[in-house]
Amino acid sequence: MKFNTKTIHGGQKLDPAYGAVMPPIYQTTTYAQSTPGGHKGFEYSRSKNPTRSALENAVASIENGNYGMAFGSGLAAIDAVIKLLEPGDEVISSNDLYGGSYRLFTSIFKKFGITFHFVDMKNANTIENYVNANTKLLWLETPTNPMMNIIDIKACAAISKKHNLLLAVDNTFATPYLQQPLELGADIVMHSATKYLGGHSDVVLGVLAVKDKELADKLYFIQNASGAVCGPQDSFLVLRGIKTLHIRMQRHCENGRAVAEYLSTHAKIENVYWPGFENHPNHVIAKTQMKDFGAMISFTTKGNNYEDAIKIVEKLKIFTLAESLGGVESLAGHPASMTHASVPKEEREKTGVVDSLIRLSVGIEDIDDLIADLKQAIG
Ligand SMILES: *Cc1c(COP(=O)(O)O)cnc(C)c1O
Repeated sequence: MKFNTKTIHGGQKLDPAYGAVMPPIYQTTTYAQSTPGGHKGFEYSRSKNPTRSALENAVASIENGNYGMAFGSGLAAIDAVIKLLEPGDEVISSNDLYGGSYRLFTSIFKKFGITFHFVDMKNANTIENYVNANTKLLWLETPTNPMMNIIDIKACAAISKKHNLLLAVDNTFATPYLQQPLELGADIVMHSATKYLGGHSDVVLGVLAVKDKELADKLYFIQNASGAVCGPQDSFLVLRGIKTLHIRMQRHCENGRAVAEYLSTHAKIENVYWPGFENHPNHVIAKTQMKDFGAMISFTTKGNNYEDAIKIVEKLKIFTLAESLGGVESLAGHPASMTHASVPKEEREKTGVVDSLIRLSVGIEDIDDLIADLKQAIG
């Protein structure tokens, strides 16, 4: 089955009761048993729920995995991955990271004795300097948030195989339409389905997909034991979102390219960060591991003035000033004061999150309206 068919049919069965084309929302906590243990695969909805299972199967399918797990948020999915580890274990993570992931690693898991190294992974060769006998996991995002750096997943997979580490990739920005980490050698792929998979800014949810059965069993155990699951209604919404992922992404990429090109020629703009530019430092890797370059774009203004950036985001009319990304509507954010406010200033500036940086999630509106909006806001 090709990707554009998988988004609609992958992992799905017709509803056995009435042939419903969409899986029903099984809004139930429990399931009748004919005799103790005599059930139809479902006992209690924290452990398993048919609507959630339908979503988990769909996610496994579009990521070319064999098993999927769905959680109450993207961070709950990441939380489950880190719970595979033990005190004393070490993680090597990309340094240009979603702020909430950074906060989870440093404010929650560090105190349970897990050590995190935040490393510039743009050049994969530097990663091995941080590997020691305690290293268990490589965690990365590509493209990174919000600097749109590209990390070579295949090169990281080679390092993780050599040292017997797990490789987990946060694929939220790219989506499986653009990039399939399991095919490139990753062990775990993670999504904030709140973003492109859901696609309509109406649900918070997280997912994982893996190929390996043993790893899947450990993650299902954590999912049930820790209990950070999503409800059937939210599972349904993401399942519905996935069905249009491929056409939404195609338009996101077209609009993203047009906005990136417009900004790059604007006299008041200093830098535009988007992996589709030939002069992007890892454009060649992006071209190899991605089908297109996406619709996440960051830029800075000339003079790097905090107030200039604030004025621009306040003036935008079609782009909404808001956290989050990946919905059909265009959003703008100011990472230094919003998504990355929990990252210390020196730390964020080291990775390029300067005061004037603005991040755009380009939606699927008419491109002429989007460009006109940027034009009136930037001046
Ligand atoms: C939003 C996001 C997360 C966290 O997901 P939630 O659904 O908000 O918990 C993790 N990684 C990336 C790249 C994100 O954009």
